[in-house]
Amino acid sequence: MPPEATSLLTAEAVNAGYGTMQVLWGVDLDVRAGETVLLLGTNGAGKTTFLKSLVGLIEARHGSIRLGEADVTRMRSSERMRLGMTYMSELAVFPDLSIEENIRIGAQALGHPNPKLNDLYEIFPVLREKRRAPASSLSGGQRKMLGIAKALAAEPRLLVMDEPSAGLSPLFVKEVIRILSDLRGRGLALLIAEQNIAFLEVASRVFVLEGGRIRFSGTVAEMTDNDALRQAYFGLK
Ligand code: ATP
Repeated sequence: MPPEATSLLTAEAVNAGYGTMQVLWGVDLDVRAGETVLLLGTNGAGKTTFLKSLVGLIEARHGSIRLGEADVTRMRSSERMRLGMTYMSELAVFPDLSIEENIRIGAQALGHPNPKLNDLYEIFPVLREKRRAPASSLSGGQRKMLGIAKALAAEPRLLVMDEPSAGLSPLFVKEVIRILSDLRGRGLALLIAEQNIAFLEVASRVFVLEGGRIRFSGTVAEMTDNDALRQAYFGLK
């Protein structure tokens, strides 16, 4: 079957930037239904810029973005969300509100007034325990969980995540990876931008972004077979 037949997200030849500075140069990337894709790149490679252009927070100056059958290149961010693409941003956690209020408000904002709280608490038992506590009482790792739960309350087909490991201890990074594996098992498609290669564990395919250009795309096994990439990202010869 050609990849297009099962593609959920297809970005082709995307250019984007800020003012006169061009950051992305003809970026191609696709995510198939239910697949976990890792966008790997060092600081400043353009990962955040690319994710923002996918979800509609900045404009793609050239190229196209499709979500399922729909061309979303010129759509507002809210319309892309309604079509099933949710961007996870932990900034959207309100510290004074309880965990449950946070989830409800997040879901409402994303057009899902009745979030399936029990399903979410099954994935994040710690949030059930603390559901009446203010979000400010959560640890950094737990706050990250809440951010993911809020995004999931919108019941997306594709969850787009920018550096879920940021600010987390190695122990919590493991916990986030465990949760992402769980989500993958539930059929959710994930696009994860990271510089932490630990996330290769959950991915089926990987795109390496360098200087705003895709340097490599392939399976995780193909990446680890590539001598130059292995050296650059794993420090191995
Ligand atoms: P990081 O892991 O540091 O977030 P990244 O791969 O996500 O890195 P981007 O944040 O997309 O990279 O940044 C790519 C380039 O765009 C960098 O040179 C950065 O300085 C620049 N840049 C990012 N945001 C802005 C902005 N709002 N205005 C101007 N330049 C920006």
